Amino acid sequence: MGDQLSGELSSLRDADADSDRVLMAEVLSEARYVPNHKKKIAFCFSAMRHFAGALEQQGMNVDYIRLDDPANTQSLKGEVARAVERHGAQSLVVTEPGEWRLLKEIEGWAEELGIPVEIRSDDRFLCGHDGFAAWAEGRKTLRMEFFYREMRRRSGLLMDDQGKPLGGQWNYDAENRKPLPQGAEIPKPCLFTPDAITQEVLTLVGERFPDNFGSLDNFGYAVTAEGAEAALQHFLDYCLPQFGDYQDAMRAGDPFLYHSLLSAYINAGLLDPLKTAEAAQDRYLEGKAPLNAVEGFIRQIIGWREFIRGIYWLKMPDYAGMNALEAVRPLPAFYWTAETGMTCVKESVEQTRDHAYAHHIQRLMVLGNFALLAGIDPSEVNEWFLVVYADAYEWVELPNVSGMALFADGGVFASKPYAASGKYIQRMSDYCSGCRYDPKKVTGEGACPFNALYWDFIARNAGQFEDNPRMAMPLRTWARMTGDKQSALRQRAAYLLEDLDAL
Ligand code: FAD
Ligand code: SF4
Repeated sequence: MGDQLSGELSSLRDADADSDRVLMAEVLSEARYVPNHKKKIAFCFSAMRHFAGALEQQGMNVDYIRLDDPANTQSLKGEVARAVERHGAQSLVVTEPGEWRLLKEIEGWAEELGIPVEIRSDDRFLCGHDGFAAWAEGRKTLRMEFFYREMRRRSGLLMDDQGKPLGGQWNYDAENRKPLPQGAEIPKPCLFTPDAITQEVLTLVGERFPDNFGSLDNFGYAVTAEGAEAALQHFLDYCLPQFGDYQDAMRAGDPFLYHSLLSAYINAGLLDPLKTAEAAQDRYLEGKAPLNAVEGFIRQIIGWREFIRGIYWLKMPDYAGMNALEAVRPLPAFYWTAETGMTCVKESVEQTRDHAYAHHIQRLMVLGNFALLAGIDPSEVNEWFLVVYADAYEWVELPNVSGMALFADGGVFASKPYAASGKYIQRMSDYCSGCRYDPKKVTGEGACPFNALYWDFIARNAGQFEDNPRMAMPLRTWARMTGDKQSALRQRAAYLLEDLDAL
């Protein structure tokens, strides 16, 4: 599958070049399961084609079914069935997929195909499903921080000989929230010129998916393990030292800042997450990057990434339908068109359209935050996030959106909603200086929409949050406001919510 492009994949580990065959298929049922960003489809198909070529060079027999193969049944099961028949296959070995939906489908294949199907666990992750379930068992709250410490102990990353964290602290997040200084020079991103295979895929995607979201222009993704390794080295050399300090910063016209841009590669299997984290650790041990940067980066990979996956498999399938805050408003069209006067949202959507990428704070505190405050239906928000990013697969997208951004799971792992007014965006970016709205105004013409929507969100969900100690402060501030101020805020919010696309 398109996110299993690792030479060390469990299903390939003992493959025999003489008697086994590797099946890879580009199928519409997966490419169209949601109408993916054009760059995401191109990245996936090109990386698959390159991976198939690499396997063949190692002597493996690969059946590679292209999207435009006239015999292609356009479904995974259809292609597996054809291959079983073609080769008289006696058994099938699969590495478990990253989506619950697909796992359920594959679990039915043995009966439908009439041959044994062995589903192997995906051990490219540090923590397996059982390990996560055992860690979660009996805990009243599931907090990433405690899980992360386990992963640090287990991996030995940034640990001393006594089993203590290097530097004396587990987490340096408090040092990682600086706004970008004016004039800060941002390294150029590591981009790759499309080769003949990628060119062919770009033409195919342009022809077959013309109406999908996103631009194919300036495609610069790496599509091989070697390319992804070069992207990692580029990040370590040029971005890692500043990654920590400015992890939460945003700047208009600069989509990437010091972020690694590695998620699509790690998720597709082109980079190994543990080796990636170890490479960052080496930079700290060599004195080339500070601890707050290296710890911050390692925490994202062995902490957040593993934890999010654990939550997904622990809580599916019910998790997908959760809507604890009963949010029902449809997704505004500007999430697709970028036609809005809110500069923060406009910039974030435009770069998403152009690059199939936005960094964490844009996803969480701009695009997710707006959807949270405006009460957008989680299923529509989830679909959007799954469609638009090159790194999006349901196991990682869903808990990030429903759990972290929207609090739609009622707080399975977030201790409070990540709700913020325009003040936060003003502090962490330069978006507001070029915006038609004023972040300092809360009501009246030209007031930043995030402000009234924030207080409306607090007011309308007060009942949900009254027992949450971390929400006590905003609830108290709301309660202390005069009745006039409260009703002015709620009227302004009602006016905004009436026609979000006019913003
Ligand atoms: P960096 O900032 O350089 O971080 C380094 C690496 O850490 C990333 O490459 C990624 O592998 C990992 N990482 C960091 N945060 C997370 C996280 N919260 N969950 C999982 N891995 C993390 N990430 C995805 O891979 N796919 C998604 O579909 C996705 N959807 C998201 C939706 C929302 C609403 C939010 C708030 C976050 C989402 N994330 C998702 C997490 C995170 O935003 C991206 O992993 C990150 O922005 C990718 O850019 P980067 O490689 O430059 O990351
Ligand atoms: Fe966004 Fe408000 Fe700032 Fe405009 S003023 S960029 S809408 S936070």
